[in-house]
Amino acid sequence: MGTICQPETARSSRPLTRGKCVDASASNAGCTIDRISVQDAPDVFGFIGQNLAILWKDWPRDMEAVGLDSNGNFSFRGTCPYPGCNRASVFLKINASSAGVSWTNNRGQQMSRIVAVLQCQGCQKYILGLVDYTQGSLAYHYLEHYPLGSADETVAEEIPEHIKEDFKEALRCLWVNAYNATAEMCRRAMEASCLDLGAPHDKVLEKMIDWLEVQRIITPYLRDAAHKVRLGGNRGAHPPATPVAPVPASLAAPATPAPPTATATTATVEKIEKEHAEAIVGFSREFFHHVYVGPKLVGKYDFTKPKATAPPTK
Ligand SMILES: [Zn+2]
Repeated sequence: MGTICQPETARSSRPLTRGKCVDASASNAGCTIDRISVQDAPDVFGFIGQNLAILWKDWPRDMEAVGLDSNGNFSFRGTCPYPGCNRASVFLKINASSAGVSWTNNRGQQMSRIVAVLQCQGCQKYILGLVDYTQGSLAYHYLEHYPLGSADETVAEEIPEHIKEDFKEALRCLWVNAYNATAEMCRRAMEASCLDLGAPHDKVLEKMIDWLEVQRIITPYLRDAAHKVRLGGNRGAHPPATPVAPVPASLAAPATPAPPTATATTATVEKIEKEHAEAIVGFSREFFHHVYVGPKLVGKYDFTKPKATAPPTK
């Protein structure tokens, strides 16, 4: 962690407070400085928070620090942010270092900020935690924590790069439970794939998919899978229809029986939930496998009978 013992380069417009520099490095040891108020975390944590917020959206924030001794040892307890764990857990400190911020509080106590990597005892995954610590005491004040995991973005190498990127983004969205965004990104990857397979640019996605099947570039089964991705993406992109106020009976048209639908046994999905997002990812994977991975595998092997070689002529 870098020191913030640089009053002339202070990055905050908020009031500065005076304090003693506690940076252990020889060049700064013992100097007195104007420093950023302790309410300001070093920029790096703001940066981490902002960027993780994009990846993670929201994670449970109920967490507290528990002091274990007066030598800087503590644990966290609270709800694990990782999907699949997501339960009350204890997080043990794996390692820690000074966050480069220390000060004297209004009771004359030495305070310092500690950043630590802690491990969930439920799922063994890691979080980054921040605490303020009253030196020589058991008082540890929880400030922030951030999940440190990343999504499994494994996708087939054979998929063209620009389609792969969209599909990976869909997988990241799924991992952070952003189901609408998962569906939208799969649809986007599907559209890119249809264009890549030669579908006309001037058609809407629905017509592109049908065109590919008519041209026998994809099978009827893949056409159906692609339409599921298309429709799922549309559902993810648009909020459910707003309920319409009931029409007074005097103005209502006479009731007509609803026409039978082909999918009468399938419930219409109003909202993209986890199951739907996973299905849309599955259909996309299936499609990409058939159009990119399978053909390359087939082309890789040649099992035809070797041609008889002519006997050497003398
Ligand atoms: Zn956990």
